[in-house]
Amino acid sequence: MIDRVANTFFHLLAQSSVLKKMASRYGMRRPTSFARRFIAGETVEEAIAAARALEARRLHLTLDLLGESVTSLDSAASATREYLDVVDAVIASGVERFISLKLTQLGLDVDKATAVDNLRKILERAEPAGFFVRIDMENSPYTDVTLEIFETLWQQGYRQIGVVLQSALRRSERDLQRMTALGARVRLVKGAYKEPKSVAYQKKSEVDAAYVRMMKTVLATGHYPAIATHDRAMIDLAKQFARDHNVATDKFEFQMLYGIRRDLQTSLVKEGYRVRVYVPFGREWFPYFMRRLAERPANVGFVLRGILGESG
Ligand SMILES: Cc1cc2nc3c(=O)[nH]c(=O)nc-3n(C[C@H](O)[C@H](O)[C@H](O)COP(=O)(O)OP(=O)(O)OC[C@H]3O[C@@H](n4cnc5c(N)ncnc54)[C@H](O)[C@@H]3O)c2cc1C
Repeated sequence: MIDRVANTFFHLLAQSSVLKKMASRYGMRRPTSFARRFIAGETVEEAIAAARALEARRLHLTLDLLGESVTSLDSAASATREYLDVVDAVIASGVERFISLKLTQLGLDVDKATAVDNLRKILERAEPAGFFVRIDMENSPYTDVTLEIFETLWQQGYRQIGVVLQSALRRSERDLQRMTALGARVRLVKGAYKEPKSVAYQKKSEVDAAYVRMMKTVLATGHYPAIATHDRAMIDLAKQFARDHNVATDKFEFQMLYGIRRDLQTSLVKEGYRVRVYVPFGREWFPYFMRRLAERPANVGFVLRGILGESG
């Protein structure tokens, strides 16, 4: 109950422009600033430095240029250009070629055809260079259109793309069948957004139970799924299921967010599992950051300490 109230509270706060201004002022300005725990930096150079540090720990990575919900075609075009620059910078740097992006960042709210064109521009540069491009899943009003765009691109022959499904949504088990039939690589998550009862499970136990069912399906059907969670219980069950069903450790991967459960990331690598870390960076970090606080109100304490320390 408390968790749900806290979660709602943070999703409301995420819309506050005053808070956004304050956070933007203090959150990233020094290497020790509070937002840096979850955000690799504001520039692609900082993201690449973080990527190198992860690779030194034998972790895989996916770079995510933060941004979402752009409201003009100009902003969508500039986000697309920035992504193309990220692709070039990654190629030049030699770090692993793997990115994640959001369709609303490429203009989905303004014009669907433009968003698809923008995504295609990125794929045209990224795929021949051996990148894998994961299309993140946003909140439920975007589920249908995201899957539809993914399917269209898949039918057009793009194969270095992957999709995300959220166990919190009641529809996701059906969507999983559809994506599995296609042969698509699925990243399985619990879901980061506050969703209404009509479309989403409200109890953590229900979200977790759906996660376990879907995790077994993705592991059994074997299109190199990503089990994206920091939940030790889910991870242990995935390991157990993989062992029991002879799913080799190179047939799937775990994924975690930058700065979260670093201990678990390292211990899984030591046990011989593949772990990919989602590395968010860029100036538009506030909504992402607030979702991380909403997930775990305990994070607020360390953020407040950071703000008090910075503003003095
Ligand atoms: C690689 C990756 C990509 C993702 N992509 C998407 C996406 O495209 N769309 C989407 O909706 N969601 C995405 N998510 C977020 C996901 O939906 C969850 O909101 C998030 O992972 C928290 O859920 P959990 O599975 O870790 O389990 P929870 O039950 O929330 O947490 C389990 C444990 O993990 C730790 N933990 C979890 N969150 C935090 C935190 N913020 N700070 C500190 N500790 C924490 C705590 O120890 C907690 O007890 C992604 C997550 C990952 C790891």
